[in-house]
Amino acid sequence: MAATPQFNEDLYKPLAELDPVVQNIIDKETWRQFTGLELIASENLTSRAVMEATGSILTNKYSEGQPGARYYGGNEWIDELEILTQQRALKAFNLDPAKWGVNVQPYSGSTANFAAYTALVDPQDRIMGLGLPDGGHLTHGFYTAKKKISASSIYFQSLPYGLDPSTQLIDYKFVHSQAQLFKPRLIICGASAYPRDWDYASLKKTCESQGAWLLADIAHTSGLVATGEQSSPFEYCDVVTTTTHKTLRGPRAGMIFFRKDLENAKDLERRVNEAVFPACQGGPHNNTIAGIATALLQAASPSFKTYAKQVIANAKAIADELVKHGYTLQTKGTDNHLILWDLRPNGLTGSKVEKVCDLVGITINKNAVSGDKSAQTPGGIRLGTSAITSRNLVESDARIVASFLHRAVQLTLALQKESGSKLVKDLVKVALDEKSEGSKGVKELRKDVGAFAMKWPLPGVDTANLKKPAGIDED
Ligand code: PLP
Repeated sequence: MAATPQFNEDLYKPLAELDPVVQNIIDKETWRQFTGLELIASENLTSRAVMEATGSILTNKYSEGQPGARYYGGNEWIDELEILTQQRALKAFNLDPAKWGVNVQPYSGSTANFAAYTALVDPQDRIMGLGLPDGGHLTHGFYTAKKKISASSIYFQSLPYGLDPSTQLIDYKFVHSQAQLFKPRLIICGASAYPRDWDYASLKKTCESQGAWLLADIAHTSGLVATGEQSSPFEYCDVVTTTTHKTLRGPRAGMIFFRKDLENAKDLERRVNEAVFPACQGGPHNNTIAGIATALLQAASPSFKTYAKQVIANAKAIADELVKHGYTLQTKGTDNHLILWDLRPNGLTGSKVEKVCDLVGITINKNAVSGDKSAQTPGGIRLGTSAITSRNLVESDARIVASFLHRAVQLTLALQKESGSKLVKDLVKVALDEKSEGSKGVKELRKDVGAFAMKWPLPGVDTANLKKPAGIDED
């Protein structure tokens, strides 16, 4: 073998040797994931195999275009990979390749959505999606009175629909009547924070009455849809977008499924593909596409079905336990992987509980709940069970997780009282003050959460030999 030229020496060194600073950050994050409980509903723990694929040499290759029609040479194996990924995507969702096609190139869910809108409607056309404060995603047309926030409201005219305030469920009748007035060209369904399933048939009727497209963004639930645990949008929708890293448990990316059997839109396939590239993106990230392929192989396995069922069972167990403690959940429970917990009856904001949970090793996020007045200080938190299920927790363990959450909320109330202030920063000051009563509670809970979390495996990590890295100063 030829000797490595001197000037390229760095290319052959392992990360830990070449860049110990970045290695240490990775080690600290690994430790955080191992010693904590991950309850962010949009996150999951992908497999070792997916991480190997995304960390592979495929990152080196440019492949703008479609399989067989690239703008660069050398794409023989990349073509094979992309076609395989497309086939696996259709198979995972039980789709007939004569009726559905898929683009697996989107870098993320946001780009997938924008590309799908680009394919379906013209600039400044009217779109409707679930409002962000009611659980929709930014990319479903979000804007405020002062600002058009998302590109989906900058480049399109957007009218959000919402929840029935009495049930906190999607108000399909209201969507229908709004659509008669607004006359959208596209209705988007799917959500980031909605604990119930969707009535796609009802939305299809509304779309038919207006000649509008129906797009489902199943980013959150795609792993549950693939396994039949949530209803399938494919029977009713024209286009379905998804991320690949939430319940589906793949790498961070997106996909766009499009119908191929529409009388009035023979060219939908071309429009979607051209919207992804060259309209919205450049070269596909082939290492990520390999990760998607591997995740889709896993998603078609019987064990993935067991995992998906368990994700929902764990969410129901946590919801059940929280209700027993007297807490208020939006829609009173859940049918999927997530729980929306309304903390307003307890006199707390989501930001405070998120902060205290962070201090004790439970990762959650503050979230708007129906009727919230301010987006800055939302009255609730969102919990999800995908990641803990990927660490093998079952219902009895999920109930222990709920008991930690109960303690965290009680601790937040005690810290708020001790600080004598309503401000998050004052509460944190007390929590970190060694002499305070509250700081003892924080330490105790952190210890209990850590001891519990470290009993479980972490995909892709040899936890038996994991050492606390430099820079972690907790006991
Ligand atoms: N769509 C929905 C429903 C989401 O919840 C999210 C992210 O949480 C996205 C799209 C955007 O995905 P990404 O963060 O990959 O752009």
